[in-house]
Amino acid sequence: MKFRWNSFFIGANGCALAVFLYLLCGFSHAASAQRLSTNVIPSHYALQFAPDLKAATFTGSETIDIAIKQPTSAITLNAIEIEFETVEIHGRDGQTQAGSVSLDPEKQQATLTFAKTIPAGDATLQIHFTGILNNELRGFYLSKTARRNYAVTQFEATDARRAFPCFDEPAFKATYDVALTIDAGDTAISNSAIAADTPGPGPAKHTVVFATTPKMSTYLLAFVVGDFECSSGEADGVALRVCATPDKVALTPYALSVAEFALPYYDNYFGIHFPLKKLDFIGIPDFEAGAMENFGAITFRETDLLLDPKTASFQTERTVTLDIVHEMAHQWFGDLVTMQWWDNVWLNEGFATWMENKCTAAMHPEWNIPQFVAADEQKILDIDAQPTTRAIRAEANTPEEIDQMFDGIAYGKAGHVLLMLENYLGEETFRQGVHAYLAAHQYGNATAEDFWNAQTQVSGKPVDRIMASLVAQTGEPILDFSAPAAGRVSVAQQRFFLSPSIVPDPTQKWTLPVCLKTGANGMDCQVLTPSSPSLAVPDANLFFANAGGNGYYRSAYAPAQYAALLAHVETGLAPEERISLMGDQWAKVRANKAKVGDYLDLASALSPDPNADVLVNSAENVDDIANDIAATRQERDALAAWIRRTYAPQFAKLGPPAPDDSINTRQLRARLLLLLTIHGNDADLETEARRIADQYLSDPASVDPTLGQAAVNIAARYGDAALFDRLEKIYETSNQPELQNFALRQMVAFTNPGFLDRALEYAISPRVRNQDSAFQFAIAMKIPENRDATWAFTKAHWDQVRTELTPEMGEYLVEGAGNFCSAAARDDVKNFYAAHPVPAADAYLRHAIEHIDGCIELRRLQEPNLKKWLAAQPQ
Ligand SMILES: [Zn+2]
Repeated sequence: MKFRWNSFFIGANGCALAVFLYLLCGFSHAASAQRLSTNVIPSHYALQFAPDLKAATFTGSETIDIAIKQPTSAITLNAIEIEFETVEIHGRDGQTQAGSVSLDPEKQQATLTFAKTIPAGDATLQIHFTGILNNELRGFYLSKTARRNYAVTQFEATDARRAFPCFDEPAFKATYDVALTIDAGDTAISNSAIAADTPGPGPAKHTVVFATTPKMSTYLLAFVVGDFECSSGEADGVALRVCATPDKVALTPYALSVAEFALPYYDNYFGIHFPLKKLDFIGIPDFEAGAMENFGAITFRETDLLLDPKTASFQTERTVTLDIVHEMAHQWFGDLVTMQWWDNVWLNEGFATWMENKCTAAMHPEWNIPQFVAADEQKILDIDAQPTTRAIRAEANTPEEIDQMFDGIAYGKAGHVLLMLENYLGEETFRQGVHAYLAAHQYGNATAEDFWNAQTQVSGKPVDRIMASLVAQTGEPILDFSAPAAGRVSVAQQRFFLSPSIVPDPTQKWTLPVCLKTGANGMDCQVLTPSSPSLAVPDANLFFANAGGNGYYRSAYAPAQYAALLAHVETGLAPEERISLMGDQWAKVRANKAKVGDYLDLASALSPDPNADVLVNSAENVDDIANDIAATRQERDALAAWIRRTYAPQFAKLGPPAPDDSINTRQLRARLLLLLTIHGNDADLETEARRIADQYLSDPASVDPTLGQAAVNIAARYGDAALFDRLEKIYETSNQPELQNFALRQMVAFTNPGFLDRALEYAISPRVRNQDSAFQFAIAMKIPENRDATWAFTKAHWDQVRTELTPEMGEYLVEGAGNFCSAAARDDVKNFYAAHPVPAADAYLRHAIEHIDGCIELRRLQEPNLKKWLAAQPQ
């Protein structure tokens, strides 16, 4: 699955928001265990559905082939929101008997009870049932456009049970025969290819029968019904299709080209050919996540699949590419080999995250993906330095706990840990370990140990000890390097917290590879253990302890070594290493181990850097300084003057946009424009941004879209009714998901009086899809000028806001409150949500409160330093 926030861009705070929404949660002890018994094991489902898209209901029937270990008269499986009509079992003894059903909605289970004991051995369950096509974007649900209804599925993690009674746990793998009776003229898509398509039963209907699927988990089953149209291609003998509603089929060829690159890339990398004959990619009008890796039938939010390459911004192109190859990587990591249980969901998500970057970097070397990855690592390290972080592998039993496992730790931290491991073992050794792991467990399930034991065996290196240390332990280390002497450097390690008031447990230590930089591009990797006092230093020239920026740790240097790094930052370090150094320095400011001025000095030294990701990374921290540390008008003005002095020359050097500008140049220009206007208060550039915005909205193909969208974001900040109406019209009438989405996001960025309430009322009106509503609040809370009013609106319209939220969207709303930076606001947030609890969002509330406390502490400690540093700057 892919996080849903991947699809939005809101300009200056885009990435910061994405980071903030890397949701983290503490875990309470598991509620009553909800695991099914292993006395009954399913092996095959034959499923028939007849959805009624107008009435939003469906009828279904299934036969499940099961094996019974011990004789029993009761079978428990998962079901919720299902009406059972008849239940029968046919046992090994040849007897068929009807069963009665008792439901346990709390556990989302149904127990089928039979009068006579069913003997051990094979048996067949036959169940007839009915259900509703719900509006909750999970299970078997209804998606709507202005023209018609669609029936689609989303089962991960625990929602297959809303479509049919099943053994809904990842280790109960089975094969599936799916048949759908649908309206004549409609099509259906499912995991495997169509085996038969026959008229009836009944008038104006036809029945589509799909080939038997491979053995797989319930959460990977999918079927969609409607008038989807597709563009088709082929790679490595696999039929590829990208499908959308008919009005959007023109936006499918880009995704097809990505899939045609990635399929042979993966076949080759994994050494295991894609196991199905076809692979479909389907854009769904209403979709909660970003995308879902159903085996052979990947579903997407439209913004994450469909684009027009002529008008797409670079961010959209990168997001769509990463999401497609992420889901394709899951066909092996997750679909072919599945985690035994959700506690190891990182085996799915960490791998898909690591691989999406690797595959995209191979497809687009000019996108500088390693720098993008290094910047992402800084954000994850910051999240993991909070007290509410969790270990990569953590307990999860209830559906709410399982849903909360899909967070920044399972995706980001696990992905970076795998990158560190690959970097240490070498690409080819690591690839062989991956192949050995997949080959040993294909069509089955695996645990973390299965993975690292395979890598240990292939490499002959202590991967098991390293991975156990990183996967089971909570948090991250900071490595304190002394001045190197006589060819060695001593290292002290302890857990790192951003908050200076937390004292780490002195006994917590890690075993992990540390790669020291040697020469221009070399590295020397050594394994640091809890008892290692020192490492050998192979290169005495410039000491840098995170070669390539791939190590999952923070580094601290002795003063002379840090001064040398600062002096040679543009010549001695690679761009990824500069990003890593900046991240370490900013983390130290937040932990009160350095002064904010030290960070700004580093940002000054890096301001001429020609790499967009280096600039983007430091610009985000400068945004944070302006928003969170600068407390007075005078400080903000002085900081704005510094921003103009520091970054205007770089912006001027880029010159006006040219058709042959590189992606890097386009990104740099857009990001500098945002920084120089929003926090640099450059009035001339603001006027220029308004002009570019107008041109972009009039003719999106006439302006570099990356620049055009940044300009609209600036124009919206100071926008008027004409601009607001224009954006509303784009959202309601454009057939380009990217533009629609972009226009909607900008509506909450208006800071002139009156517009925010209008935008929020619009967000909770039926004119905005529920999949988008909560984001509007989350984005508005990021904008300092709009924060108080957004919170006041939320409280005043609570009942209406609540009804617009889909089951998992409440967390975005709750966590948005974490942008406040005062004790009064914190208490208000606490009290309000205590009185108005949001289901399954208590952990997000704790994280929000922690975020507010962190901001208060940061401002208290660093604001005097900022004031002093600003006063010492030349005017
Ligand atoms: Zn995923």
